[in-house]
Amino acid sequence: MTAQIISGTEIAKQIREELTQEIAELKEKHNLIPGLATVLVGEDPASQVYVGQKDKASQALGVYSERHDLSADTSEQELLALIDKLNKDPKIHGILVQLPLPKHINVPRVLFAIDPKKDVDAFHPVNVGKLMIGEPDYLPCTPCGIYQLLVRSGIDIKGAEVVMVGASNIVGRPTAMLLSQEKEGFGGTVTLCHILTRDISIHTKRADILIVAVGKPKLITADMVKEGVVVIDVGVNRIGKTESGKAILVGDVDFEAVKEKAKAITPVPGGVGPMTITMLMLNTVKAAKLAAGLA
Ligand code: NAD
Repeated sequence: MTAQIISGTEIAKQIREELTQEIAELKEKHNLIPGLATVLVGEDPASQVYVGQKDKASQALGVYSERHDLSADTSEQELLALIDKLNKDPKIHGILVQLPLPKHINVPRVLFAIDPKKDVDAFHPVNVGKLMIGEPDYLPCTPCGIYQLLVRSGIDIKGAEVVMVGASNIVGRPTAMLLSQEKEGFGGTVTLCHILTRDISIHTKRADILIVAVGKPKLITADMVKEGVVVIDVGVNRIGKTESGKAILVGDVDFEAVKEKAKAITPVPGGVGPMTITMLMLNTVKAAKLAAGLA
């Protein structure tokens, strides 16, 4: 069996086209322009790239974007004061504080200061709790991207054996919570594996849908999966550079070998990655609609 390649690049493009139209309609019919503020503290090169991509995506879609670049020695007090200002600003519907933050800043204190209604990353305990009880306003961006990849590729989650390898607060745990909801369109039987799982292959071999978010190249090999599995590879690992100096990226799954057994699989790059920023845009539009009483 050679797998269907699930293209996050293509699916993200479809969703962005839908969003562009929705944003234009919000402006025309309701004079509403969704607004996103990004906050970057320090000069971490990867974070600068991520924030740059988020601003670019906002501009391409017609979202109002405001970028706040603060120096690495910004105090927690100053950062909290900026968040307070953004919480009160009616032009801003979503606030994104790029992680990691410098060591002298208490991350939970900062993230929990964001108004849950503007928490488009869905990291605030109010939004985590709402997802837990099946009443989310926002879904965290990467889990939401994983869900969209499955649904838009025609993969049925209902009753499927879903194995999630990796249990972080931003990917593994919320994905497990999301896909196991007892609701139309969801309904997976989810197993959540992590570093303390005795033997992950016992679980991965049972999976109808295998999702991997660990950060270890080739953690999942062909002998660990069954024929016909659907694989979503979230991992992003830099394993070197091309001659022109471009980073070589691979996921957590041995793509070449596993694709011979899988029914469908995401590549790295071009799989989950392009979906994450698109879901941030989706959440920003939802935040604007919620604020205007349109959702
Ligand atoms: P994390 O480091 O916070 O968590 C890793 C998880 O993997 C932990 O639960 C840990 O217990 C588990 N783990 C570690 N080694 C393991 C092993 N040998 N067997 C089973 N479980 C093991 O990571 P994260 O933030 O969730 O990110 C995971 C990967 O996904 C990284 O490569 C990251 O770059 C990537 N990522 C990609 C996107 C995207 O948009 N494409 C978004 C977020 C994260």
